[in-house]
Amino acid sequence: MSDNQSPLNEFNHLNIVLIETSHPGNIGSAARAMKVMGLNQLHLVAPKTFPNAQATALASGAQDVLANATVSPDLDSAIADGRLILGTSARLRSLAWPQLDVREAAALARKEAQKGPVYVLFGRESSGLNNEELRRCHYLVHIPTADDYSSLNLSQAVQVFSYELRMALLQGHAPMVEPADYEPVGDDKMEGLFQHLEQALLELRFLDPSHPKRLMLRLRRLFLRARPDVNEYNILRGILSAIEKFAAKQ
Ligand code: SAH
Repeated sequence: MSDNQSPLNEFNHLNIVLIETSHPGNIGSAARAMKVMGLNQLHLVAPKTFPNAQATALASGAQDVLANATVSPDLDSAIADGRLILGTSARLRSLAWPQLDVREAAALARKEAQKGPVYVLFGRESSGLNNEELRRCHYLVHIPTADDYSSLNLSQAVQVFSYELRMALLQGHAPMVEPADYEPVGDDKMEGLFQHLEQALLELRFLDPSHPKRLMLRLRRLFLRARPDVNEYNILRGILSAIEKFAAKQ
């Protein structure tokens, strides 16, 4: 374990995830942006080029963050154990999704990271996060900007978020509102739940595959908002299995 992964680091559970980054310089700059604010957990999902000399040069004194970065082929494996997933976005999207401004998001992330892994997703330079990625998130996070130009450089967006985390840390702890033993299930279980839910609703013929509309999307939003713990999750899976059994008999 290297120094920057010391268990004393208050941000060890705070993971910055860069998805399909094109410019290696942005990866290096993001590492530097993180390290100056005390963050060290960088994840790269299918980066175009990594490792890369430009990334190393722009990381400057944050080369340890680059060296410790994990590289994953897809988002699933990168965020499977995430208890809170935040997606940063330069634009507002067509289907309203729970949203926080960057200051509120950092305070929440800081609080949740005291209990377990939090992932903050940053999108491609060209097109941001795609809809499927945005729908994995509990909240979308927007950095306020001028009305006529809202797209920050990727590493600068990482800098603003990391700075807000630092400020949240300096300002102390947000109040805990959940029971002390509350542990939401991770992203991998939530994805399993959504697949099971879709299957059960198809078998029940509630979901019409020729007219799915936005049913699954709305249910996804509902259950992500609820953030079930493992007991609640097991109950939901049990109900879905019972629905499937019942539907098969009809
Ligand atoms: N052209 C893209 C913007 C990509 S900028 C688009 O229209 O979506 C690269 C990444 O930086 C974004 O995916 C997001 O993660 C982050 N970012 C840029 N501007 C931001 C803002 N105003 N608020 C939050 N994140 C932002």
